[in-house]
Amino acid sequence: MTVPGLPIRDDLRGLEPYGAPQLDVPYALNTNENPYPPSERLVKALGEAVMDVAGTLNRYPDRDASALREDLAAFLNADTPGVGLTGRRVWAANGSNEIIQQILQVFGGPGRTAVGFEPSYSMHPIITRVSGTRWVDAFRDEDFGIDPGRAVEAVRGHRPDVVFLTSPNNPTGTALPLEAIEAVLEAAPGMVVVDEAYAEFRRGGTPSALTLLDRYPRLIVTRTMSKAFAMAGTRLGYLAASPAVIDALLLVRLPYHLSAVTQAVARTALAHGEELLGGVEALRGERDAVVAWLRGRGLAVADSDANFVLFGTFPDRRRVWEGLLARGVLIREVGPPEWLRVSVGTPEEMAAFRTALEEVLREAP
Ligand code: PMP
Repeated sequence: MTVPGLPIRDDLRGLEPYGAPQLDVPYALNTNENPYPPSERLVKALGEAVMDVAGTLNRYPDRDASALREDLAAFLNADTPGVGLTGRRVWAANGSNEIIQQILQVFGGPGRTAVGFEPSYSMHPIITRVSGTRWVDAFRDEDFGIDPGRAVEAVRGHRPDVVFLTSPNNPTGTALPLEAIEAVLEAAPGMVVVDEAYAEFRRGGTPSALTLLDRYPRLIVTRTMSKAFAMAGTRLGYLAASPAVIDALLLVRLPYHLSAVTQAVARTALAHGEELLGGVEALRGERDAVVAWLRGRGLAVADSDANFVLFGTFPDRRRVWEGLLARGVLIREVGPPEWLRVSVGTPEEMAAFRTALEEVLREAP
C-alpha cells in the first residue's frame, strides 16, 4: 500500500501496515486469543461497571490509573509470589503494544539501537523502526532458543539501548530460562524488556522474569490482559519495572491515555480473575495434545509454553494455509518460511483443525 503524493516520512515509505487477515470464519485460530468468552455473570458485572462510569464521562479519567495499577500489582503478586510489587512499580496502557511504543519513545529514538532475537514478535521491530530507532536482529538458535553466550556477544557487540527478549516467544512458543535473561541483563548497557504476553501459559519450571526485578533496575517485564486473561477486546497491557522507569514513561504517555471505560472494565475483569484465567489449564491441555498429535503425524513442532503451536515444515506452506482456510480454519502464516502457527482453541475448534489438516495433508503432503 502506498500513499502517493503525501509527504510521509522517508523511513515509512513502502512499509505495509501490520495485521493478520481479518476473515469471518467458523474457526479463527490465528491471533492467539483466548477462545472462552466471559460468562453471563461477568458480562453483567462488566455492564454494571460501564454503567457506573457512564454518568461521569463528561470528566477525564484518572490520569495515573492508580486504582487499576494497584489491582494489577496485586494480580502479579499472586501470580508470582514474593515479587512484592506495588502500583508505583506497575504501568498500564492500551495493550502491551502501546506499552512497547512508550518504552521505545523513552529509551529509543534516532541514533539509538534496539536488539531482538528473531523469529519473534514482529511488532517489536515495527514499533522500533517507527520510533526512529535502528533495529538489529541477533537471531535465535536452530531450536528457537537463545544461547546465553551468543546473546551476550550480540549485546556487547551492538551496545543496544533496548534489548527485547520474548518469553514465551511468539511465534515459536519458546520460554527462556532465567539464566539467559540474567546473562543479557548483566551485559546490557541499556534497558532489557522481557515480553511476557504469554506468561500464564508456561509449563511448570520456568520462573517469570518478575523475580529478577529487585536486582535489575533496568529490567522491564511486560504483560497483557489480551491472552490468558481473555480480554483482548479491552486493550489493556501493562508492565512492571522500577519506579524510575515508571517516572520516565510519564514523559511520553499522552494525558488520559486510558479511558475511564477501559479502566473500569479492566478492574472488573481483574476482580473476576479466577473465572477469566479458569480456561488456562484447559488450553494448556489442548496445547500439549495438539503438539503430541502433530508429532504423531510426523511433523516438526516447536516446544510450546504459550497458547499456540508452531509446526511444519511445508515447502509450500501457503497451500496448507489455504487448504485449511477452505475448510473454515484460519491459522497464521508467520515465522520461519516453512512453518505455520495455530492458536489453541476449544476442544471443538481443535478437532476441526485436526480434521482439516488431515485432509489437507492427504491432498498435498
Ligand atoms: N507481545 C507479544 C509477544 C504478542 O504476541 C502480542 C500480541 N500478539 C503482544 C505483545 C501485544 O498484545 P496486546 O497489545 O493485545 O497486549
